[in-house]
Amino acid sequence: MKKILVYPILAVMLSSVLGACTSQNAQTPKLKEEQATEKNAGTEVTKINTSHWSYEGETSPEHWGELDPANSACVNGSEQSPINIEFSQVENEQDAEDLQINYEPMLFSLMNNGHTVQANAAGGSNSILIEGKEYKLAQFHFHTPSEHQFNGKNYVMELHLVHKDSNGKIAVLGVMIQEGEENKNLAAVWDILPKEETDKDIPLNETVDLKALLPEDQTAFHYEGSLTTPPCTEEVKWTIFEMPIEMSKEQIEAFRKIFPDDHRPVQSLNNRKVIKS
Ligand SMILES: [Zn+2]
Repeated sequence: MKKILVYPILAVMLSSVLGACTSQNAQTPKLKEEQATEKNAGTEVTKINTSHWSYEGETSPEHWGELDPANSACVNGSEQSPINIEFSQVENEQDAEDLQINYEPMLFSLMNNGHTVQANAAGGSNSILIEGKEYKLAQFHFHTPSEHQFNGKNYVMELHLVHKDSNGKIAVLGVMIQEGEENKNLAAVWDILPKEETDKDIPLNETVDLKALLPEDQTAFHYEGSLTTPPCTEEVKWTIFEMPIEMSKEQIEAFRKIFPDDHRPVQSLNNRKVIKS
């Protein structure tokens, strides 16, 4: 008779350490305390969760839609950003989007918001006109690697210049960044790049000349998309310059030391057209 050995099944008790908000543990003690208090009070928990997204683990881009009902566009949207731009599939249309850039050197203040380094405009003198409509520059910030792709490839970084019109509608200029010469137009920003999350903006002592920062050749891709961070709001007008700008290896590394990866993966194009002009 064959002897059958039955091994006892060990019921492994997994303690439920993996709560819904594991990554809170990585946040500041102050925030944890606030969350605990608010949870005990049974209020405002949702409000706290909206700010608590990331680029890795349980709060990474594929989970943004679950973190808060306000983020539903992140999963249910049909015009999401970023996208891969296939050069063979774009439609060439001269003067399709009438873009006019009105930038002059101006002051900014820097913040590290836990997701990127962002330079907030200190005043409203920089603006763009898209088909005659004015959008004022609110801020610029960086992603690494790039969020948009050209023919399936990422650049090492991408700059986003975020503008708003009088109704709050958003238009973003995107600039690809490749490794090369030191970018002197960003030296004032890189001199005081905030390594830790900031409570208060740090004012720059020098102006930043964004006009000089943009690529000389302003051939660009235009499409209708969204914010690339929660709540992934749509109806954002995107303009991505074809020509990249350069930053030195040291400048790129300085940013990547703070944010090794702060990009959202590319989203489905669906029925959208990308127009080059
Ligand atoms: Zn961005």
